[in-house]
Amino acid sequence: MKTFLDWTAYRDAGMGDAYADIPKTGGDFARAVSVCINSHRCEEKRKGVMCPSFRVTGKVPYSTGGRIRLLKAALNGGLGDSPFTDLMLADAMDLCVACKGCKRECESEVDMSMMKIEYLAQHYLHSKPSLRTRLLANLSANLQYYGCFRYLPTVLNRSRLLSRLAELLLGLSAKRKLPELAQHSFEKRHVNKTSHPQQIINDLPLAGEVALLLDTFTNNFCPENAEAAIRVLNKAGYVVHIVDHNPDHVDANPPLCCGRTQLAHGLVEAARKNAYRMLEALLPHVEAGRLIIGLEPSCLLAIRDDYKFLDLGAAVDKVASHAVMFEEFIARETQAKRFKLNFESINTDVPLMVHGHCHQKAVGAMKSMRKVLKMIPELKFEIIEASCCGMAGSFGIEKEHADISMQMAEDALLPALRKTPDARVVANGFSCRHQISEGVQRSSVHLAVLLDEALPV
Ligand code: SF4
Ligand code: SF4
Repeated sequence: MKTFLDWTAYRDAGMGDAYADIPKTGGDFARAVSVCINSHRCEEKRKGVMCPSFRVTGKVPYSTGGRIRLLKAALNGGLGDSPFTDLMLADAMDLCVACKGCKRECESEVDMSMMKIEYLAQHYLHSKPSLRTRLLANLSANLQYYGCFRYLPTVLNRSRLLSRLAELLLGLSAKRKLPELAQHSFEKRHVNKTSHPQQIINDLPLAGEVALLLDTFTNNFCPENAEAAIRVLNKAGYVVHIVDHNPDHVDANPPLCCGRTQLAHGLVEAARKNAYRMLEALLPHVEAGRLIIGLEPSCLLAIRDDYKFLDLGAAVDKVASHAVMFEEFIARETQAKRFKLNFESINTDVPLMVHGHCHQKAVGAMKSMRKVLKMIPELKFEIIEASCCGMAGSFGIEKEHADISMQMAEDALLPALRKTPDARVVANGFSCRHQISEGVQRSSVHLAVLLDEALPV
């Protein structure tokens, strides 16, 4: 079996272990599957993230281990000659929201989110991706090439008839609102600043130079987050370069994208092309000694973690070692005594509830969130103990997933928010903010926006 992802990191998994139960086919992918020790711990409802689909259904095939057992059966020939079209396997994989909870919380660090990508890519050998998959996976390019695509969410959100039609034709749930785009993207708003790597010079002593990753979501849906982050970094004395196309190497079209949306939908080759271009754009910053700062957890972590599965060469490790999320950067730089900004207190009467994106939790970044929030004097905040919000990229807006997506949100996140109706909400994930707005009709902000409000005058 030829795999789409590079699983060589698992080559030694199970070596010398007579009980490793490595499937007969699948090579290194089979070894990755075999790291599950079948302990059934993922079938317990415990604190943490793993496994949202099992939490809300209580059904074993929707647990991480349940999926592993089906994958093992597929690779051992137990699901017939064409195992990646098997309906039981398809059903189990369909409800994996790729939250990476298992990667952190399973005792064997089973990485089902990457296995789901491999599964989808294998599945597409037999049945082509749907129009919806192609629209959502190629979001960044679609926004660039089809002007009308920018207005589609707004139009559908305002017309029941058209949203029903979109459900019928595209499989986008008519029950859910679609996230609407900003009137002008960050690139449009700052056209002269992003056409070349820019420097926003601060009047304070220089603390360092950084590169800010302008992901598809921040650029098109919430450019104010990038603007807030720049103000915070700038005020702290950092020269901010916007990661842009390298004019010497990278074509301006299609727009720069990490490829995470394509990976999530199993379009591995398309994601690989984007990843190559992204690495070309990032490398000059890394070589200049700059850290790459990301605002959208899944995009930054795609570069840091998922690219290692794409067989992209030596540049991946170089770039990965320089890629940090906004909160990780501030926590790290504060520790190193380079980030010395004294934030001011902001409306101390209003408590703050913080929802972590699953991928932030999977890499332990909530510690950094806590450290940074403590830098705002007198701020009372609580980090919500919850699993995945259920939106999981585009999962929650897909017709067949809309209900279970909301059940995932109702597991802990939405009840916690309803108990604190007056609290402000911080959520760094774009899809988390959308789910919160759908579930409790409350807006939430990125940490960068909160810190921007707390900047000293
Ligand atoms: S996936 Fe992890 S937690 Fe679940 S059975 Fe396998 S080893 Fe245990
Ligand atoms: S990635 Fe998340 S949803 Fe998928 S198996 Fe792991 S814990 Fe479950």
